[in-house]
Amino acid sequence: MDYRANTRKLGLVQRFRRFLNGLGGKHRCCYCGRSFFRFSKFRGGWDSFSRYLRDVKWTGSDFDHFWCPFCKCHDRERHLLLFFDRLDLWKKFEGASVLHVAPEKGLGLRIEKCHPANYVRGDLFPSREGVGKLDVTQIQFPDASFDWVICNHVLEHVPDDRKALSELYRVLKPGGIAILQTPFAAGLSQTRENEPSVDTDAKRIEFYGQEDHVRLYGTDLFDRIRAAGFQLTLQSHAEKLPDHDALRYGVNPDEPLFLCRKLPVGEETV
Ligand SMILES: [Zn+2]
Repeated sequence: MDYRANTRKLGLVQRFRRFLNGLGGKHRCCYCGRSFFRFSKFRGGWDSFSRYLRDVKWTGSDFDHFWCPFCKCHDRERHLLLFFDRLDLWKKFEGASVLHVAPEKGLGLRIEKCHPANYVRGDLFPSREGVGKLDVTQIQFPDASFDWVICNHVLEHVPDDRKALSELYRVLKPGGIAILQTPFAAGLSQTRENEPSVDTDAKRIEFYGQEDHVRLYGTDLFDRIRAAGFQLTLQSHAEKLPDHDALRYGVNPDEPLFLCRKLPVGEETV
């Protein structure tokens, strides 16, 4: 999903509100370093989403603490920054070949600073300079092209997600790692998809979380990732970031880090 920030120029009242917000210290953005009273909500925040999504324990974006009011980064990229800091992943991008699908701007700037040897940013509908056309189900790069793949909150939009997973696996070098953050319902064992009754934007928002989501993953998402060949390790917020108050940083503490490794030759699982 493209959670593109509204970049239109702020009016005087909005700028004043943002100024007032910036006097607070309850929350802090780990990208721009600003502190403020509140994050901006995604649409109307959780109140505008369905009871169903709460009941099945939606594990994805935090709709109440979504945008940074100053740099417009969103929760999913803030969480990755905190995980990458803690796991000291930044230095591993230096000299590496990195594919970033549907790239988040703030995260992309951080990766650039690490001086990867090759940093490819691609999107099905590219809209920014430096981002090329890329269909995740038909990636135009040879096998074993990348040390790292970052593909966040994309699979839930892709009709043939198994093909996408197999393509992401294919372009990864043996020993390489894909970060595949994907929203799922922790209280649902089986993915909901291809349901004739979920046939309108309103119903897709109610049951899948967004009008352009084609499914709501259950916990069988993890099997789907493994079936593509990846060795999946889920790193939890509680385990890796116990000293980071999720509310303060505007991240979802239930969202784990999806580390998906392509095992070296001879150690493959499939
Ligand atoms: Zn910020």
